[in-house]
Amino acid sequence: MTELIKYTAAETAGAIAKGEVTAVEVAQAHLDRIDAVDKKVNAFLHVDHEGALAAARAVDAKRASGAELGPLAGVPLALKDVFTTRGMPTTCGSKILEGWVPPYDATLTKRLKDADVVILGKTNMDEFAMGSSTENSAYGPTGNPWDLTRIPGGSGGGSAAALAAFEAPLAIGTDTGGSIRQPGAVTGTVGVKPTYGSVSRYGLVAFSSSLDQGGPCARTVLDTALLHEAIAGYDPLDSTSIDAPVPAVVAAAKTRDVRGMRIGVVKEFAGEGYQAGVMQRFEESVELLRELGAEVVEVSCPSFTLAMPAYYLIAPSEASSNLARFDAMRYGLRVGDDGTRSAEQVTALTREAGFGAEVKRRIILGTYALSSGYYDAYYGSAQKVRTLISRDFDAAFAGVDVLVSPTTPTTAFPLGERADDPLAMYLADLCTIPSNLAGNAAMSLPCGLAPEDNLPVGLQIIAPAMADDRLYRVGGAVEAALNDKWGHALLEEAPAL
Ligand code: GLN
Repeated sequence: MTELIKYTAAETAGAIAKGEVTAVEVAQAHLDRIDAVDKKVNAFLHVDHEGALAAARAVDAKRASGAELGPLAGVPLALKDVFTTRGMPTTCGSKILEGWVPPYDATLTKRLKDADVVILGKTNMDEFAMGSSTENSAYGPTGNPWDLTRIPGGSGGGSAAALAAFEAPLAIGTDTGGSIRQPGAVTGTVGVKPTYGSVSRYGLVAFSSSLDQGGPCARTVLDTALLHEAIAGYDPLDSTSIDAPVPAVVAAAKTRDVRGMRIGVVKEFAGEGYQAGVMQRFEESVELLRELGAEVVEVSCPSFTLAMPAYYLIAPSEASSNLARFDAMRYGLRVGDDGTRSAEQVTALTREAGFGAEVKRRIILGTYALSSGYYDAYYGSAQKVRTLISRDFDAAFAGVDVLVSPTTPTTAFPLGERADDPLAMYLADLCTIPSNLAGNAAMSLPCGLAPEDNLPVGLQIIAPAMADDRLYRVGGAVEAALNDKWGHALLEEAPAL
């Protein structure tokens, strides 16, 4: 029975559809695994034992009735605690939302339920998705299942750790500057930031609205594609939602053929700060793509070097506006409301107690950048840089189908190492941020272990907006070739928990 937790999502759905196993057995196996290991990993903020088993029973009843099951029916999933879930707590990793139970489901949550996916619970994250290590959670850090003393990435460290610890075969993350891809890279799992606007943000608690994008996480490229198709698509409830067909990502993941594709290596993603073993595995992946029949060229995107400062003006600016809604009147925590204080005083006391240091830092930074007199110098300049970055991508994609780079400059660093050094922490997203600023699609998938520390390295693939299928075509081919070479999937090398 424990082997059930090792199944891919595709295998699990197939076994349930054929009646080889029940959805209840699958859900129970994962709940047992969570009970056994999550005290150590801390991937989950909330586990919904009863809700998960009830959803699984409904899938079994549906099958018994002879109804056709969808491609992910009965497959368990770990949901980042930034999507609203009706009747289930949603905290965004923050004290300020402690105890808040949303009255509605996010569109993404609703789509998962409509697809008969079994939601196991909500996963840990940096507070309001601000961070790269999950250490900014108000509920304690998550450990990396490869080495519990190291970071699982962030902000979606809980979702990635749940996959790597075999607590769930599927997970959902959000990527504002890298929070799906970077945790994927450091835990040896797959994560995709879909094209901005292709997965609804309705019910996704906003950090930086022009950058935030929900997306799929799994242990294989095909499972990620199956989840991608379940959650993507037009939503009239999100004003930035793209009204166009979702690219055929599942079919692309099965192609496993990159012959004739043109692949660009981004010159700027190398050099100082990049770990030797990360670069070694990346260069081997590029060589592999060549062997598989792709044409590899070097491309230059000079504005990418300005992506980090532009992001750290735009994201905090939008955050300072979005987080103004946490005023102690509407949701969650309220401090000092004893009849002697004004509403303004209660709001101030609540924010003081409810927001952590990084969230306060960003609100102050963003408020400053948007203030009259500084707006043009900071926010306005950052928006101009954003345009330059988009132009670099356009120029690059005129000559190549996808771009590749390491996902992160280093492997998982020790918990605590960068916790007091925000600038060092921000560097973890050096390679991922340009795609958020431009709104295109990107994937991270495992490409081996760094020889110096035996920790996972991620390969990043970037595609133009609404060409998400190219990520899966390249990712599926690389994954298949690497698994052939190693004789197994990378996670099978993970030290047992
Ligand atoms: N690490 C980046 C930040 O702190 C990205 C976070 C994210 O993608 N949510 O803002």
